[in-house]
Amino acid sequence: MADLTPEEFRRLGHRLVDWVADYRAGLGDLPVTAPPVPGQVRDALPAALPEDPAPDLGDALVGLLDDVVVPATLHWQHPGFFGYFPANASLASLLGDIASGGIGAQGMLWSTSPAGTELEQVVLDGLAAALGLGEEFTFAGGGGGSLQDSASSGALVALLAALHRLTPDWRATGVSGRERVYLSVDTHSSVAKAVRVAGLGERALRPVPFTPDTQTIDPAALAEAMRVDVEAGLVPVMVCPTVGTTSTGAVDPVRAIAEVAVAHGAWVHVDAAWAGVAALCPEHRDLLDGVELVDSFCTDAHKWLMTAFDASFLWVRDGDALPAALSITPEYLRNAATDSGQVVDYRDWQVPLGRRMRALKLWSVITGHGLSGLRDAIREHVALAGWLADQVRDDAAFRLATEPSLSLVCLQVTDADGAPDDEATRRLMAAVNAEGTSFLTHTVLDGRYVIRVAIGSVATERRHVESLWADLRRLRAGG
Ligand SMILES: *Cc1c(COP(=O)(O)O)cnc(C)c1O
Repeated sequence: MADLTPEEFRRLGHRLVDWVADYRAGLGDLPVTAPPVPGQVRDALPAALPEDPAPDLGDALVGLLDDVVVPATLHWQHPGFFGYFPANASLASLLGDIASGGIGAQGMLWSTSPAGTELEQVVLDGLAAALGLGEEFTFAGGGGGSLQDSASSGALVALLAALHRLTPDWRATGVSGRERVYLSVDTHSSVAKAVRVAGLGERALRPVPFTPDTQTIDPAALAEAMRVDVEAGLVPVMVCPTVGTTSTGAVDPVRAIAEVAVAHGAWVHVDAAWAGVAALCPEHRDLLDGVELVDSFCTDAHKWLMTAFDASFLWVRDGDALPAALSITPEYLRNAATDSGQVVDYRDWQVPLGRRMRALKLWSVITGHGLSGLRDAIREHVALAGWLADQVRDDAAFRLATEPSLSLVCLQVTDADGAPDDEATRRLMAAVNAEGTSFLTHTVLDGRYVIRVAIGSVATERRHVESLWADLRRLRAGG
């Protein structure tokens, strides 16, 4: 098979880079989303795949992007994207991604990608220090970090390491059915999914009540739940506090939770998928309070660290924990470097065997922006959220559903008595999304409908948040 020649690739590659640059430059003029109809994309494409090569791959690709993909895309990189948590794909990170694909190395073992492995170790050790995670989470300190595809995978492998630490013959016998995992109703669904995938069954899920008037796990209730379970012959495997819940950005009291969990030998996995990277800023270091007591800590680069999906950091305090649970070495993967015990084989830190050189895009982001640039971006988003929260406080037609958390503002429309008005809140969010200048998503808090404004897209500036606020007021007033 004749692939593109390097010269053809150069020509087409320039054209595609131009397309991406134009797309990004023009994004603010597009609606964030033009609601597509189900089937629209399938109907726009021929049913059969092409038997023969296209006369010009560049024309075909650009045509597909312009005519089919863009009209049916929710534009996550749009400056008016305030939904879910933004997935901020900086252009600097894309450069590293292109290089990773270009080299096309498979980093399952150190020996199959020495550069990818060691670059990843250096980036993860350096970031642990920059975030203020203790030395114990670095390779130098006996722990170590890895890049997972997502926080969901991080939670799964942490759970497998927890199972292994608790009962080393788990690898031979599987689970007993008596394992229990402690979380809250606001813990991300990926933890429940990990529990299902690991074969524990949903009976293993133990939601712990909140401390009254908060959305955070009550450590006393956790202690009681664990005590009752242990008395009943059940086995606490893992406790999952969240630093920055997806719903409202609430921060579970990690220190108090870890102190309870450690007494029972349970693994503590901190899910800080969105908020954890804010610890780069000294003023947000309190997010890490108690993390020195936990077993694993996860935060996404692909939400708020300017890095294109997928890149999620998982640090563990015991560098042997994941390999002990996951390593399987068939003859064809045996090699001298592994046998020497001097290298890290990242396949043992994840579910799949193969892996890309994800560290390249992190290196690109960190080198391109500097840690100071990443801190500036986080501070800018937090300041914009603070500004928006101030406007909401000063306007009787709105209320804050809860205090803002970092760059997340949760707001509601009020009725004549100043109480939350679910129907009006729901209608307002639909009206904003229908206009297409901004995109919002919702949550439910204490049974009431809440609009979430998650600030964090690379392209978002003050004027975009101001424009969102103007739209919220105008549309609330029926304009
Ligand atoms: C987004 C999110 C996740 C899942 O993140 P992925 O990296 O997409 O798997 C998990 N936990 C929290 C708290 C999140 O906000």
